[in-house]
Amino acid sequence: MYAADALTDHEIEVDVFDRLPTPFGLVRYGVAPDHVSIRSVRDTLDKVWDKPGIRFLGNVEVGRDISIEELRRSYNAVVLTYGAAADRRLGIEGEDLPGSVAATDFVAWYTGHPDYRGPDFSRLLHNTRRVAVIGVGNVAVDVVRVLSKSESELSETDMPDHVLEALRDAPIEHVTLLGRRGPVQASFTTKELKELGELAEADVHVRQDELELDPWSQEQLANNKVAQRNVAVLNEWLERDSRTDTHRAIDLRFFVRPESIGGATHVDSITVERTELDADGRLSGRGEFERLDVDLVVRSVGYRGEAMPGVPFDPTSNVIPNIDGRVTDGGDVVPGLYVAGWIKRGPTGIIGTNKKCAVGTVTSLLEDLPSLPDPVETTDLAQVLSDRGVQTVSVDGWRAIDARERDRGHERGRPRQTIAAREELMEIAGTTPAT
Ligand code: NAP
Repeated sequence: MYAADALTDHEIEVDVFDRLPTPFGLVRYGVAPDHVSIRSVRDTLDKVWDKPGIRFLGNVEVGRDISIEELRRSYNAVVLTYGAAADRRLGIEGEDLPGSVAATDFVAWYTGHPDYRGPDFSRLLHNTRRVAVIGVGNVAVDVVRVLSKSESELSETDMPDHVLEALRDAPIEHVTLLGRRGPVQASFTTKELKELGELAEADVHVRQDELELDPWSQEQLANNKVAQRNVAVLNEWLERDSRTDTHRAIDLRFFVRPESIGGATHVDSITVERTELDADGRLSGRGEFERLDVDLVVRSVGYRGEAMPGVPFDPTSNVIPNIDGRVTDGGDVVPGLYVAGWIKRGPTGIIGTNKKCAVGTVTSLLEDLPSLPDPVETTDLAQVLSDRGVQTVSVDGWRAIDARERDRGHERGRPRQTIAAREELMEIAGTTPAT
């Protein structure tokens, strides 16, 4: 949407394709529903649809409904911004046991992603008292917060009803966050970290020995403002008295790496090894192991980009190779093919980082524009897709979904309720043609 916004500023016509019937990607299906102000970015993005020369062609999967070659023949330029939707693997024993889940799945479930086909969290959470979350990034913090919030704290969100009910009924008592390195190396940001200490019904705990910094970490800390703020928050928690008004505990652990996940037919434990950093910041195990009894393990160790048929891909870094957003193949620029966002840089950075990234790519595209060949195919792709029996969702169709979600929310005293079922979204969008 940021790339489309920057292009329409230069009076360039833009068709935005999405395999989902709804626009806005991770703003809708990634940003935690209780982060209401960050989610409101979609109101800003929604204004882009009001600009002249832009269309939405939702419910179109590139590589299935239409090929990248067809797109390239129909436009002067194609900008790939499809993100990094897959999860990274840990490669440890027990990773695939029922009850060991990827954070990407949990996030897709609680945000009401239409293609969600993962574990049945309504059933899983019903028997979950103790949870381990692997990783100490912002997604891990989102997961812990969503699992630990009270019914009333979640009531303002746009989560689907079945998600709210499952979270309300989950008998969660204990959530442990596991960082394989120390507090200085944790990738969560301070605002997100602080929120864990402000929950209505959960008390957060840290351990003094795990906050002690080795020489390398001290050196790192001196040059890292975010880490300094994080370490200050963690030390503040150390000094805090335990609360007696809560029924949930959050343990924030450092210098423990997952060794294996245990259980016969379902997760019943996770074994971690204590770790340390040497003078050069290299991580090693200390040979001391600890077993934690848990019912659920959430692996929150990062997202991973995937290849798109017909597009160059770097399987080592899982991004599309590029120079300033110009896609390259064996080092040579592929004319008319561009990339922005997580599939350009890898899955790091906040929304603002992606805006800047998209604007950078559009700058390259605008520089190239005079030399880009004209499209060889002139038939409108909306027509081509319709002839193939692909029902596309237009801006009007999306606006119908948007209005229905707001109405549904208002009926329940909430600003919005996300509609999760793809068939329902398609039915609401109707067959409104792209205008
Ligand atoms: P992330 O920040 O890269 O965090 C991944 C975590 O997984 C790190 O703590 C990493 O530890 C750990 N990890 C990786 N491999 C591991 C392994 N084998 N064993 C144990 N731990 C392992 O990724 P993310 O949390 O998925 O977030 C992605 C991006 O979205 C980030 O830039 C994040 O800031 C952003 N985001 C922002 C917000 C927000 O602003 N509120 C919310 C959600 C996401 P090491 O560092 O040791 O590798």
